[in-house]
Amino acid sequence: MTAAIIDGRAAAARLRARVAAEAREAGIAPGLTVVIVGDDPASHVYVRNKARAAANAGFREATIALPAEITEAALLDIIAGLNADDAVDGILVQLPLPRHIRAEAVIEALDPAKDVDGLHPVNAGHLASGHPGLVPCTPKGVMTLLAETGVALAGARAVVLGRSVLVGRPVAALLTAADATVTLAHSRTRDLATECRRAEVLVVAVGRAELVRGHWIAEGATVIDVGINRRADGRLVGDVAFAEAAQRAAWITPVPGGVGPMTIASLLENTLIAAKARRVLA
Ligand code: NAP
Repeated sequence: MTAAIIDGRAAAARLRARVAAEAREAGIAPGLTVVIVGDDPASHVYVRNKARAAANAGFREATIALPAEITEAALLDIIAGLNADDAVDGILVQLPLPRHIRAEAVIEALDPAKDVDGLHPVNAGHLASGHPGLVPCTPKGVMTLLAETGVALAGARAVVLGRSVLVGRPVAALLTAADATVTLAHSRTRDLATECRRAEVLVVAVGRAELVRGHWIAEGATVIDVGINRRADGRLVGDVAFAEAAQRAAWITPVPGGVGPMTIASLLENTLIAAKARRVLA
């Protein structure tokens, strides 16, 4: 079998266009504020891309760039101001934060209704209890790509490899909410290859270049590769050995061009959801 490619760039472009059209039709320009602390070049690139996508979708976008030395208390004051600002529908604090600032304290300070990254314990709790609200953006993008394939999730055997708060755990919760039978595997799992081979749907988020080999994949499986790893020669590769896996899978995401582009599109989707919900409540 040679897998069909799940085109994340095209899916993300469609989602961004749909969100922009929905906002226009609803007559709202959702307000997204991105907060970035320090001068990590990769984080600044991510933030610029988010800002550009938001502006292109007709959103009101603001970026607050703060010096690395800012105190946690000063950052919490800024968050409190954004929580109280009626023009702000969504707040995203770009991670990682400098070591002297507790990321949990900052995330917990967000108004859960404006937490468009879906990381606040209230939103994580809704997800864990099977009632997803604002859901972390990359896991949400994974589910959108799975929906694109048309593969039935109800009753499917799904394996999620990686249990991070940002990716693996929320993906497992979303697949559970979609009625899949979910195994959450991690670095302490015995015989990973056998666990993976059982999967009709395999989502991999470990951050280890090409860890998952072709013979780990069941014939006809759907494979979503969240990993982004830069090899010594500069090439970007996923956590799955793509060429080998594509020989066995029915569907597979490439890296780059798979899950990656979905994250920003999901952020816009979350910001529109937050904007609509706040207007209903107002
Ligand atoms: P993370 O926080 O480092 O978590 C990695 C997870 O993988 C952990 O649960 C770890 O297990 C598990 N793991 C590590 N090595 C393993 C091994 N050899 N065998 C089995 N399990 C192993 O990483 P993350 O934030 O979830 O990110 C994962 C990957 O996704 C990275 O490549 C990252 O760059 C990428 N990513 C992409 C996007 C995007 O596309 N926009 C967004 C976020 C992340 P333990 O829990 O036991 O330590």
